[in-house]
Amino acid sequence: MIEIFTPDELPRARAVGALVGRILHALQGRAQVGTNLLDIDRWAKAMILEAGAESCYVDYAPSFGRGPFGHYICTSVNDAVLHGLPRDQVLRDGDLLTLDLAVSLDGVVADSAVSFVVGRAAVPEDLAMIETTERALAAGIAAAVPGAKIGDLSSAIGAVLHEAGYPINLEFGGHGVGSTMHGDPHIANDGRPGRGYTLRPGLLLALEPWVMADTDVLVTDDDGWTLRSATGARTAHSEHTIAITEAGAEILTLRG
Ligand code: MG
Ligand code: MG
Repeated sequence: MIEIFTPDELPRARAVGALVGRILHALQGRAQVGTNLLDIDRWAKAMILEAGAESCYVDYAPSFGRGPFGHYICTSVNDAVLHGLPRDQVLRDGDLLTLDLAVSLDGVVADSAVSFVVGRAAVPEDLAMIETTERALAAGIAAAVPGAKIGDLSSAIGAVLHEAGYPINLEFGGHGVGSTMHGDPHIANDGRPGRGYTLRPGLLLALEPWVMADTDVLVTDDDGWTLRSATGARTAHSEHTIAITEAGAEILTLRG
């Protein structure tokens, strides 16, 4: 289902977007060498509940997971890229961590993800991969103007990932958001321009380019949720929720 928000409903979307941005910013600051992933989950839970919001994850039980998820945030480390189930694992210097958070506030969902390197031992390849997904996200957002087609966004995202030489997996990508976390339309991270649904003001979209350094094949961890690169290669993921307005895309989940 595709949901369209009226201008007087947009403040609710902005409020939940700001909340997600604020929580991710705080968690990124607190995730240090020695931090346990379960601590990050606890902090996320506390911030979500304190804001009067609801987790989209804790009861989430889709066909592809071993549900319900039972946690409040996705924590994906190094070769893990999507749906990282928080576990009893301590972050080490140089770990590449992705935090992915979706919450519902006042009946509207926002969804955002950020990748970063913990500590001081970042390798250039990791930083370049993160920066590439951020640039791909920015390209998708720039293409998200009223009248554009979903394929224009996919093409813009895919062009950046291709140019940087990363394989692209098309199983998981961006999506509409609204009263639920995953609505239509689907926004693949590569595609042909001029195809698909036409963007109009009031549409809320989560765009989320992600890559694995040398493969497009995912494997599922023994936990039944965490998706990892089949080769063990490192991964990165950048996601924002945006609102389509008459003036173009408004990023709802800016951090900080
Ligand atoms: Mg997400
Ligand atoms: Mg998403």
